[in-house]
Amino acid sequence: MSTLHEAAVEMVEKQLRRRGIRDQRVLNAMLIIAREEFVATQDRDNAYADAPLPIGYGQTITQPYMTALMAESLALQGPEKVLDVGTGSGYHAAVLGALARQVVSIERIPELVEQARANLARAGLDTNIIVVCGDGSLGYPPESPYDAISVAAASPWTPPALLVQLRDPGTLVIPVGGRDDQDLRVVRKENGKITTRVASGCRFVPLVGREGWTDE
Ligand code: SAH
Repeated sequence: MSTLHEAAVEMVEKQLRRRGIRDQRVLNAMLIIAREEFVATQDRDNAYADAPLPIGYGQTITQPYMTALMAESLALQGPEKVLDVGTGSGYHAAVLGALARQVVSIERIPELVEQARANLARAGLDTNIIVVCGDGSLGYPPESPYDAISVAAASPWTPPALLVQLRDPGTLVIPVGGRDDQDLRVVRKENGKITTRVASGCRFVPLVGREGWTDE
């Protein structure tokens, strides 16, 4: 067994399973996907660490536990079309791609779009994932509606455009709150009704856009 694979096994056991992640498909996806392909070269040995890591342009790859919790919150079964807002490294999109039929991932920083596309191609995971450049606080109407929406950047509210582009029934997960800390909200649309629960406290980089934070 390679050292990185051992690190993946340990991550799944200690950071995910022991902290309560139960969805076997999420655990399997995060065991199998090569996270080292989504971090900077100098961080490869640290790829499975229990922390966010810098990916350039002031952004980070989300802590593994948070990625797992968000993915689990969507309760994906396989046939869904998912919108991933805040592509960053592309890792979260890769996890969603292993759990759903199709992923549309949107990122505002063009250099990160290129980087994520390259990471996904290198990992061999680009077959059901498209990465587009744009303001994800407005969602991505051309591919809507989405059975599930995952937002990996913090917003002062749930952008209305995302609720419009969410199918009924559908689930959206988003960190909502102030600049420094937020609640991870799981928003469910069903029979025309919206219900919200809080899955956890969290800390994300800001969602910068028309319906997010309007300044960096
Ligand atoms: N899911 C990523 C983590 C991304 S960090 C991963 O697994 O690596 C959040 C990302 O959201 C950053 O790359 C940031 O540039 C992006 N972002 C912030 N505001 C955005 C917006 N309005 N639309 C699209 N992407 C945005």
